[in-house]
Amino acid sequence: CQATTGDDAVYLRDDESPVHGLSKVVVGVLGGGQLGRMMCQAASQMAIKVVVLDPQENCPASSFSYHHMVGSFDDSATVEEFAKRCGVLTVEIEHVDVDTLEKLEKQGVDCQPKASTIRIIQDKYQQKVHFSKHGIPLPEFIKLDDLEGARKVGEHFGYPLMIKSRRLAYDGRGNVVVKSEEELPCAVAALGGFNRGLYAEKWAPFVKELAVIVARGRDNSISCYPVVETIHRDNICHIVKAPANVKWKTRKLATEVAFNAVNSLEGAGVFAVELFLTKDGQILLNEVAPRPHNSGHHTIESCYTSQYEQHLRAVVGLPLGDPSLKTPAAIMYNILGEEGGELGFQLAYQLIQRALTIPGATVHWYDKPEMRKQRKMGHITIVGPSISNIERNLASIVEGKKLDDT
Ligand code: ATP
Ligand code: MG
Ligand code: MG
Repeated sequence: CQATTGDDAVYLRDDESPVHGLSKVVVGVLGGGQLGRMMCQAASQMAIKVVVLDPQENCPASSFSYHHMVGSFDDSATVEEFAKRCGVLTVEIEHVDVDTLEKLEKQGVDCQPKASTIRIIQDKYQQKVHFSKHGIPLPEFIKLDDLEGARKVGEHFGYPLMIKSRRLAYDGRGNVVVKSEEELPCAVAALGGFNRGLYAEKWAPFVKELAVIVARGRDNSISCYPVVETIHRDNICHIVKAPANVKWKTRKLATEVAFNAVNSLEGAGVFAVELFLTKDGQILLNEVAPRPHNSGHHTIESCYTSQYEQHLRAVVGLPLGDPSLKTPAAIMYNILGEEGGELGFQLAYQLIQRALTIPGATVHWYDKPEMRKQRKMGHITIVGPSISNIERNLASIVEGKKLDDT
């Protein structure tokens, strides 16, 4: 990998190269976090060249990318410069400069998925408006402009309710649960005020959270991965179980909702559809990500085609691969920073040491330069004959977690 800051960047178009991998197209990825890193790992298998744009010199993807351009994916001139070096542009994060992507598309740059899709998704309120127009079941939602309006919404939805930032939200940073009218002013202030752009969602009384990774090829063929169960802790994805332990009817409905949601968007790539399952068997859509997703990490070890390989196949125009499970069951466990600094690293390494002794377990470490509390630092996937067998193995990894720390 080479890292450059701009002017001295080599020209990377692969059109005239006599030697190339499974695709001649150089894939440009906006963002170089762990998703970009795993995309690069999948690309190396197919000798597809992936170049990443990320402001951090030692971002997780940099050591695996064919080329890393150091710069912001939210800066117009930088994105334009980066686009010159790629045959197709894609994303590993939706918080990118979408105005520039639209401008580039008009000039003939190939963006997958389409800039229109990123635009809809990066504003969670617009996303809800879009899906509701397409008949996708959602929790009720409403835009918030002032405290008076928020109080009326509270009367209408009841409490608890969820207030969410429209933009730049991830890992629940941008969500506040409001339990009563008295808590409204504080919640709004915590999210940066009404000017930041807020909306309210009715509480979804879910019994489980489910997710479906859906891939769409350049020929518009759509392929869905098995439905998984996601377990969140403090709004952050904690554990993913594949397949989800739900009735056949629920799996079918969840897959249908996910298919319809992705079918309403434009462009190729993989999409993650987050869903709520309610007590009475309804499926409601929470949100969609236009890229590989935490709920699909397990596919690297558990499916015939990983979500990362599938995303690359989709954006360069190769046939989509088989998304089905090649193992009866899999569990993914996120390694989150428990403490900042050196102690955080020590705790994570203890967990990893134990995971390395467990049959069927694979450790992924993202090599982030800084450890922070609640930061996604790596993950462990365990495959095995049944969820209950894997749960026992996971317990043995996790339960000893703080033994040496007392
Ligand atoms: P991500 O990291 O997935 O992008 P995010 O910051 O966009 O997360 P959401 O997906 O909106 O946040 O919400 C995070 C979690 O909060 C959900 O997975 C769910 O557990 C809970 N949640 C979100 N909306 C609701 C709701 N309307 N009712 C109940 N719980 C909710
Ligand atoms: Mg989100
Ligand atoms: Mg989410």
